Amino acid sequence: MKIPILDLKGQYLKIKSDIDSSIQNVLDNTNFINGPDVHSFEKNIGNYLQSEHVIGCANGTDALQIAMMALNLKPGDEVIVPAFTYAATAEVVGLLGLVPVFVDVDENNFNIKIEDIEPSISDKTKAIVPVHLFGQAAPMEQIMEIANRHNLYVIEDNAQALGAKYTYSNGTVKSLGTIGHIGCTSFFPTKNLGCYGDGGAIFTQNKELAQRIRMVTDHGQKVKYYHDIIGCNSRLDSIQAAILNVKLTQLDNYSKHRYDAAAIYKELLKDVNCITLPEEVSYSTHVYHQFTIRLDHKRDELKEFLASKSIASMTYYPLSLNNQKAFSSIAKIRVPLDNSERLASQVLSLPMHTELTKEVQIEVCNAIKEFCNEKN
Ligand SMILES: *Cc1c(COP(=O)(O)O)cnc(C)c1O
Repeated sequence: MKIPILDLKGQYLKIKSDIDSSIQNVLDNTNFINGPDVHSFEKNIGNYLQSEHVIGCANGTDALQIAMMALNLKPGDEVIVPAFTYAATAEVVGLLGLVPVFVDVDENNFNIKIEDIEPSISDKTKAIVPVHLFGQAAPMEQIMEIANRHNLYVIEDNAQALGAKYTYSNGTVKSLGTIGHIGCTSFFPTKNLGCYGDGGAIFTQNKELAQRIRMVTDHGQKVKYYHDIIGCNSRLDSIQAAILNVKLTQLDNYSKHRYDAAAIYKELLKDVNCITLPEEVSYSTHVYHQFTIRLDHKRDELKEFLASKSIASMTYYPLSLNNQKAFSSIAKIRVPLDNSERLASQVLSLPMHTELTKEVQIEVCNAIKEFCNEKN
């Protein structure tokens, strides 16, 4: 594709000398596991997010699994999950023998529909996993209020909105991932803070929980070779941490570039009537992990039309989780999931990354306009 969906190479070239020397430093000190960069990165991102505790781990999926293990969720316990998200969110629920209970999302901002939560709670419900999809917050204040009232844990899946901030109705501002009992994120290369391989992290503001999380990531041991609980082996490696230490210093610039690029898309596409633009919620900043438009019926046609002009676009996600085979025999559904099902056939994400230029965006938008004029 002449116009790719993202440009990791262009981003790397701008920070090449810092990245290269940070990797070389790990090669020189050979502390490949649990080296000084892992500790400094946990500290640095903790400061950045104002998170009391940070525990690195191997990837975002592990982060979610470890969170549920640390909270001692037991087979048969129910976990409320949006039906429109990446499968990993619900997969770990199934993997641990827990029951995913799917709820719908708001069709304009793609995040969990608050009215669906209480009707989905049963006496087996133990946790809610809001996902900050595409770069902005789920309605956390209301979610926390419901969770407190029903004595439930909240695990934020913040794989897509690291760096975004939530504003409470009283004006308090918090980073996403630090609001729930546990926050989880991924440093997969395509995420807003991506490393050059796999990586993840877990956030909590509770000391006992932090200790338990760390034990779970390290074979259930607090003292080496004394295993108190069943854990797993999930580590952020030193080379990835070294890369993340460099990239964390750029995250605010990256978020701003994405936000500005989204504003350009919105301006260029504002009068194009065959598509619907994504909505920004008032209580969250938006770090535009994706810029996702919607089209009735002709989504795949537009995707092909753009591809014919060598412009990449992606469908996140083509099937809602309630319609995925993997969940068909284990999930429970207590509310209609109409929006999730409809969005799966309507959404299209446009090129969005830190190297995107206005010229390229004009080309993308002209192609979309051409498509809409021809088809309407
Ligand atoms: C990427 C992602 C994950 C999983 O992260 P990995 O590091 O790929 O395991 C989980 N949830 C959401 C919403 C994601 O986008």
